[in-house]
Amino acid sequence: MKMKNKQLQTQAIRTGYNRSQEQEHSEAIFLTSSFVFDSAEQAKKRFAKEEIGNVYARFTNPTVNTFEKKLAVLEGAEVCVATATGMAAIFATVMSLCKSGDHIVASRSVFGTTLVLLNDIVSKYGIEISWVDLTDLEDWQKNIQKNTKLFLLETPSNPLLDIVDIQKLSEIAHKENILVAVDNCFLTPFGQLPLKLGADIVIHSATKYIDGQGRCLGGAVLGNTELMNEVSLFVRSTGPTMSAFNAWVLLKGLETLALRFREHCASALKLATWLEQQPQIEKVYYLGLENNKNHTLANQQQSAFGGIVSFVVKGGQKEAWSVIDKTKFLSITANLGDAKTTITHPATTTHSRLSVEERQKSGIVDGLIRVSVGLEDIEDIINDIHLV
Ligand SMILES: *Cc1c(COP(=O)(O)O)cnc(C)c1O
Repeated sequence: MKMKNKQLQTQAIRTGYNRSQEQEHSEAIFLTSSFVFDSAEQAKKRFAKEEIGNVYARFTNPTVNTFEKKLAVLEGAEVCVATATGMAAIFATVMSLCKSGDHIVASRSVFGTTLVLLNDIVSKYGIEISWVDLTDLEDWQKNIQKNTKLFLLETPSNPLLDIVDIQKLSEIAHKENILVAVDNCFLTPFGQLPLKLGADIVIHSATKYIDGQGRCLGGAVLGNTELMNEVSLFVRSTGPTMSAFNAWVLLKGLETLALRFREHCASALKLATWLEQQPQIEKVYYLGLENNKNHTLANQQQSAFGGIVSFVVKGGQKEAWSVIDKTKFLSITANLGDAKTTITHPATTTHSRLSVEERQKSGIVDGLIRVSVGLEDIEDIINDIHLV
């Protein structure tokens, strides 16, 4: 299909699928674990990779391929490898691109399970980890060793929306032949294109905005053919493949992602602007606010400010919990990127593993609340947040 010159929103809908002989309009789901060959000779050729085609769904599946092709176009990547979850995508990236004796520098403010994955699992395989402040380029530079292989980060970070200049960080990394992997879950390709800014790898938890309706888990790793050959070999040989059914749900999610994400962002800005004017609020974290310390950088490297708003209510845990408990329809859950607005108290949930000191240092104070702004009418969302 010739879609090269179309806008990304169009490509998200139109690219990546060849209709079957049934002429279906919506993409078919290929719920099949294996594929049949015309002859023994064809089977031999497929196994020997002398002929391109499906063999077994742990390697390739047409529905999964459609999801991969769409997301690759959106992120501007040569290749996308879909995975069962976001964590599988991160694990596959680390294990396929690093080996025993290598060193990873990672941002301290990555997703909680990513911290656990690197500290408790990856470290067992002789891969060394150093943790740095996401925003501090000198800290990244300082922690480079002779054996450093990978920089791993999320920008914006959860829940305080700190960001780093991806272009500058990539320049630092590339001088030392270090790869840069960016988890782009918070912004999606409609908010930020890390590969265009110089990163080598993009990682997604498709569970969040790409699904967007809280239905299933999924993940993806994107980058050039050479790197993705390694990731693909790891995924097809160790098994965290995306299911065809989930791929279908997620590729349908991609069709509406541009539209949904625009609305998430517009409503988030309205919520942040309203919160700033309330006397009970001490601080609002949202990159779209002009007084945010990173507003200018966000404007440069992002095409949207995202759907997450965090804020500190005056007082502490008691006051924050009271705001959460007084909501009538907002969902009290740590998930994000859903059509349904969610509200969380990071200090006692997602960030409860940190010590009190670590939390204070990183700004996860007791009065902090994180809202993932959904697609309900923004007036109703605001009216469900009672501050006194
Ligand atoms: C949720 C999340 C993950 C993990 O994704 P799963 O699909 O739950 O495995 C990784 N990174 C970020 C930023 C996330 O929000």
